[in-house]
Amino acid sequence: MSVPEKCAECSAILRELAESWRTDTEQMRASSADPVELRNEWLFSDDYQMRELYQKHYPKLMVARRKKTEHEILTGHQIILNGWRGAR
Ligand SMILES: [Zn+2]
Repeated sequence: MSVPEKCAECSAILRELAESWRTDTEQMRASSADPVELRNEWLFSDDYQMRELYQKHYPKLMVARRKKTEHEILTGHQIILNGWRGAR
């Protein structure tokens, strides 16, 4: 299954997801002095803390994901994320 090509919104959101994932990840790597501590922070988080961490480390991605969900609910489209992390 793939994104319907006629929907510009789906492609735009998909691009935004890939782009925000990339910039947020780079930002996080640039700002974290200690990768081990950062990993532990993720490993020992419960669901609530996990959401906080996402919000803190992936602010752009969270916005894009909210758009995706809204668009899917409004239109019934499905925005497929398989492989988008590798998209540049
Ligand atoms: Zn769409």
